[in-house]
Amino acid sequence: MTEVKELFSSLGVECNVLELDQVDDGARVQEVLSEITNQKTVPNIFVNKVHVGGCDQTFQAYQSGLLQKLLQEDSAYDYDLIIIGGGSGGLSCAKEAAILGKKVMVLDFVVPSPQGTSWGLGGTCVNVGCIPKKLMHQAALLGQALCDSRKFGWEYNQQVRHNWETMTKVIQNHISSLNWGYRLSLREKAVAYVNSYGEFVEHHKIKATNKKGQETYYTAAQFVIATGERPRYLGIQGDKEYCITSDDLFSLPYCPGKTLVVGASYVALECAGFLAGFGLDVTVMVRSILLRGFDQEMAEKVGSYMEQHGVKFLRKFIPVMVQQLEKGSPGKLKVLAKSSEGTETIEEVYNTVLLAIGRDSCTRKIGLEKIGVKINEKSGKIPVNDVEQTNVPYVYAVGDVLEDKPELTPVAIQSGKLLARRLFGASLEKCDYINVPTTVFTPLEYGCCGLSEEKAIEVYKKENLEIYHTLFWPLEWTVAGRENNTCYAKIICNKFDHDLAMLPRLVSNSWPQVILLLQLPEQLGLLRFYNLSKVAFRTMQSTSMLSFR
Ligand code: FAD
Ligand code: NAP
Repeated sequence: MTEVKELFSSLGVECNVLELDQVDDGARVQEVLSEITNQKTVPNIFVNKVHVGGCDQTFQAYQSGLLQKLLQEDSAYDYDLIIIGGGSGGLSCAKEAAILGKKVMVLDFVVPSPQGTSWGLGGTCVNVGCIPKKLMHQAALLGQALCDSRKFGWEYNQQVRHNWETMTKVIQNHISSLNWGYRLSLREKAVAYVNSYGEFVEHHKIKATNKKGQETYYTAAQFVIATGERPRYLGIQGDKEYCITSDDLFSLPYCPGKTLVVGASYVALECAGFLAGFGLDVTVMVRSILLRGFDQEMAEKVGSYMEQHGVKFLRKFIPVMVQQLEKGSPGKLKVLAKSSEGTETIEEVYNTVLLAIGRDSCTRKIGLEKIGVKINEKSGKIPVNDVEQTNVPYVYAVGDVLEDKPELTPVAIQSGKLLARRLFGASLEKCDYINVPTTVFTPLEYGCCGLSEEKAIEVYKKENLEIYHTLFWPLEWTVAGRENNTCYAKIICNKFDHDLAMLPRLVSNSWPQVILLLQLPEQLGLLRFYNLSKVAFRTMQSTSMLSFR
């Protein structure tokens, strides 16, 4: 403590010191301090309302020049930038703004799911999205690899079974380490992290409410909304009481057993895929089509592979009621469903019902109406211009809350980072949301970039398209005796683009295991295309070389 006092006095700064052992409510102050800063020790130093840390962090900040910068700040607002939401977009924006020397605060608060699940800092991707999903997908692929391994000479006698509890525990441990890493990196960059729910109360001012209901007010020159989305519910009898969503699945303390997955998009098919990979009895209830927005030929290939590998599909049905038959871990639920086309109804018993019917933006309870930020009333999404600015000039938005933008982590990260750079004069570069590659981690992985065939026909007309396609057998599938004529690749080209002959050769180096679907607009250079395909498919490289017809 003495060294820190000496440091500030050498800088000519008068500090306001609160000796906790000399005040009546010292213990209480320490408790609140540790809650706000996640630092239990003293000294606990704040400069101009920004939490710097203990003695070591203060000296590090002094050596890096950050302390001097913080001391100079004397604006009319508490912060240069406040970000509501500490997920992929919010954190990347906060860190970049802090690197550029700005005084930044991030508020992140997880409202528990109806089943009571909540989690730490990092948002959807880290806690209840990409990370646990990819790890569970990997767990399922290992099951497949075990089957393949005998063909490659591995001999083992033990009965092989999957243990849900073990898997969930190690995945949750990994997530905790990521949560901790995020806190640390915010602290290192002197970003103030507040574990409170943020909502606007007036222009340039928010209220932050922590889990004990304590309210604090903060002001900032500029704001970024990065509050993401949460799973939607059906609005039928029994859904919130008895069904789970992806928010609950990845930390479910028991194996879900016989599972009904409602929905047919990314989340639904990915979860159904890995659950079936663990040997569970899985049914997907599809209201209309698989993977809306994706190339339907590809979507059907993904679905039929799942079907051949044990997933049941109940097409054109929607649930109308969920009833609990037995409590337990898991219990038993009766689901009544009706045809989405006729009058037919069915009743079936499951252990778990997983709803994956889409996600709602967290924009309706954050006081946007108080400062006049417009949202799309139907979807809840926030419209922004090409620099992510809302209709209120000092309020910006990034990530899943944006209207008509891909809902993907790398997109949120990139748009957050570029926004901070533009806001604080480091660059003029805008986020490019076109031709972002994406992967669906179903048992037959599906990677794509560009337009679906349906959309390409709509935009360019069928007669102007050249479609190259091939069925292929990845080398690692051959010895393993896995199906031939199952993996499929397709490239959709505009006849008026140039250098088409180059494409198959270029992409073969970074080829997806399964399917590539591409449409190549004029402005997309070959080099850029190559990089994109590498990003999208880096986890699924195959040794196969392909030739197209
Ligand atoms: P989020 O990451 O959702 O972060 C928002 C944060 O703000 C949350 O922590 C939330 O609790 C907090 N918050 C909300 N309101 C407030 C408030 N008022 N005050 C304070 N804090 C608040 N994307 C991929 O690219 N690849 C994948 O493989 C992939 N898999 C996915 C799998 C699943 C099951 C799901 C659900 C999503 C997946 N996604 C994937 C999508 C990806 O997770 C999102 O695109 C990404 O997390 C969006 O980032 P964001 O910053 O917009 O929001
Ligand atoms: P989504 O893309 O909005 O799909 C919702 C699905 O639920 C659709 O199949 C829809 O059917 C169905 N549905 C909607 N309402 C229903 C109802 N009342 N009854 C029955 N079915 C209903 O939602 P999502 O799968 O949750 O994904 C959200 C976003 O997360 C995606 O846009 C994606 O960008 C992101 N994500 C990415 C990845 C990845 O990169 N691998 C993985 C997961 C999620 P209809 O087609 O009939 O409308």
